[in-house]
Amino acid sequence: MAGMSDRWIEVADRVWVRRLKELDQSLGLVIGDDSCLVIDTGIHAEAGYAFATAVRELTDLPWQVAYTHDHFDHWFGTSAFGESAIWAVEDGAAYISRGDRQRKAWAATYRRQGREEDARRIGRSPLVPPNCRVSGAIGLNLGGRTVVLRRVGLAHTDNDMVIEVPDAGVLFAGDLLENGAPPSYDAAFPLEWPQAVEYLLSWRPAVVVPGHGEPADYWWARGQTRDLAEVAKLCAEVAQGLIPEGEAIEHGPFGAATMRTALDRWRELAPPPPEPAPQRQTDTPAGTPPPPVIVYDVFDYSIDLTQR
Ligand SMILES: [Zn+2]
Repeated sequence: MAGMSDRWIEVADRVWVRRLKELDQSLGLVIGDDSCLVIDTGIHAEAGYAFATAVRELTDLPWQVAYTHDHFDHWFGTSAFGESAIWAVEDGAAYISRGDRQRKAWAATYRRQGREEDARRIGRSPLVPPNCRVSGAIGLNLGGRTVVLRRVGLAHTDNDMVIEVPDAGVLFAGDLLENGAPPSYDAAFPLEWPQAVEYLLSWRPAVVVPGHGEPADYWWARGQTRDLAEVAKLCAEVAQGLIPEGEAIEHGPFGAATMRTALDRWRELAPPPPEPAPQRQTDTPAGTPPPPVIVYDVFDYSIDLTQR
């Protein structure tokens, strides 16, 4: 149930993380002098309403919203935030079609888990697509402080965005990093992911906020990046036949299940094997027997000129 055990952590000056019991989520809030930025909104409209209410306990400044990526738990709560600018990497139409699919799938999943009420809440959450698109990096002036919304490239999904608060040394990493649970590879790009995070950590943010789990520091993030790189390396080694798949699964740094998902995903993304060499062209239509092979007699063409 949203509410009771959810809590705020102020990770830096006016940079807040809302820790939720549900999915161990970490939602964000950055407050400037003139406005504030809300980072992700929760799994359904009611969770979003609880979050919006909690935000209003800290500030009554106008808000904008940023989606770290299109997974349902990060944006199904947005209807509670009313009319506002919503920033994301992917466009609104893609959010709507992917969201519709996820809404059905996750409602079914919660129902299977016996969580009928949450299943219904997910099922009836209005989908609020982003209306401001980030295709590189943009600075958002909140008054007295500027946050950077940065498109990541291929990593946890094909539409990840991180939020940097340079003056406070905080990086909101979305699901590129997870604390206390393995990162999710279901829609991931196992080979590209670690390089993306390495790049994002290059300015050495002091505080790194994962999409799920407790906020942590630069060195924790760096450690997880090493593990992401190990997953990529294992995928590549299995691909090249250097180690058996079973061994990779056994030694995956995030456990067997995650390694298996990463390998499946890698295989899904791998280019198809080269086409077999084209067959010798024949004009024979399928179904008709091939023409008989004629073996010619061999004649001796040498001519004895002396007989002339
Ligand atoms: Zn995700």
